[in-house]
Amino acid sequence: MRQSDLFPKTKKGEIRDAVFANHIYLVKAGFIDQLMSGSWTLLPLGWRVVGKINQIIREEMNAIGAQEMLMPLLHPSSVWKETERWKKARSIMYQIKDSLGKEFGLAFTHEEIVMDLLRKNIQSYADLPVYVYHFSTKFRNEPRARSGILRGREFLMKDLYSAHISENDLMEYYEKVKSAYCKIFDRLGFSYRVIEASGGVFTKNYTHEFQVPVDSGEDLIFYCDSCGWGQNKEIFLGKEGDFCPSCGKGRVLSSNAIEVGNIFPLGTWFAERMGVYYIDKDGKKKPVWFGSYGIGPTRTMGAWVEVSHDDKGIIWNKQMSPFDAHLVLIGEGKVREKAESVYLKLKKVGFDVLFDDRDVQAGEKFADSDLIGIPVRLVVSESVQDNLEWKFRNSSKKEILSFDAVVRRLKA
Ligand code: ATP
Ligand code: MG
Repeated sequence: MRQSDLFPKTKKGEIRDAVFANHIYLVKAGFIDQLMSGSWTLLPLGWRVVGKINQIIREEMNAIGAQEMLMPLLHPSSVWKETERWKKARSIMYQIKDSLGKEFGLAFTHEEIVMDLLRKNIQSYADLPVYVYHFSTKFRNEPRARSGILRGREFLMKDLYSAHISENDLMEYYEKVKSAYCKIFDRLGFSYRVIEASGGVFTKNYTHEFQVPVDSGEDLIFYCDSCGWGQNKEIFLGKEGDFCPSCGKGRVLSSNAIEVGNIFPLGTWFAERMGVYYIDKDGKKKPVWFGSYGIGPTRTMGAWVEVSHDDKGIIWNKQMSPFDAHLVLIGEGKVREKAESVYLKLKKVGFDVLFDDRDVQAGEKFADSDLIGIPVRLVVSESVQDNLEWKFRNSSKKEILSFDAVVRRLKA
């Protein structure tokens, strides 16, 4: 991609009302644009990052047998009245009427919709288990938040739903999903904690939150400095410095954190309210056991910026970066010709390269490169002659490498 063609260009100066790093840098660098509070366009750069996150999630969902589909966002009120969430979730759900007075809700989650699907398509134990997921928009009437893309009134979620014949079967799959979520956040490069949280009205079991510790996070978590135990502030009854209630050896620490994922073993609460039954081997009618599992890809992108930036801009890793390398041309004439040929050759080898071919000052190009945050910067200039200057975004070390050496390193 030629930077001269990239829409939009980076922004100079202050971003109004922006306090969080993700808000400041994602807007300045041209990844996202705010339409109104909590409502964001994912611009071409941002959409590339979210695409990379989604692909990793998709691979790990498919690896545990889940099938991708797509459910609607406009729901009849009737289905939400069956569980009484039409009333209970009124403060979070956008509820609207059409010109004939018919009531609809905008999707803030999809349990009721999956339940409706299941009761139309499940008869016996042979039809279970079912694992289905989608990536789609959720609408939530969030109180006005200033945390950038971390809290949207409209945001992307990957939500997986599973239905089972028994609690055992549900809990076995629940553990599989937990491992898959760990793989996802490992592959994305996060330091994170798996934190126990309350199951609310749905289940006596714990639910689990995937939390990224960072000062700017809205949540407060408690965790052991020695084992993997952790709980959120809603359920932890002790205090910082206590011995770990799980291993007894470590001490409890606390941290602010951003919740990027949450998994719920929901049990039979939904099946009982919506009449989702199957006929078991013994000929008896039984309610379906149900779980739901969510990750917010847009919040995940924002969380990365919160944990990985400096005073110049974003520092992406290889997994999430919108491009494999940022090729920067410094010079004119023969140097431009050389940069053009390097760009075409890198593309031909299969790399996704952002090529700063613009006719602007070197200082501005380097500042933009740091702001956008692609992990590898390659400079073509008079002084490197037939070679390229390689620099990682998170290091000041510059190395002069041949084209072939650059290709080998980018492939590594
Ligand atoms: P929070 O407590 O932060 O409001 P939640 O617990 O209500 O979030 P869930 O219903 O568990 O959120 O949703 C699953 C995932 O969707 C979250 O872990 C998060 O990654 C994402 N998510 C939830 N709300 C938002 C939002 N308003 N904007 C962006 N992502 C969100
Ligand atoms: Mg949650």
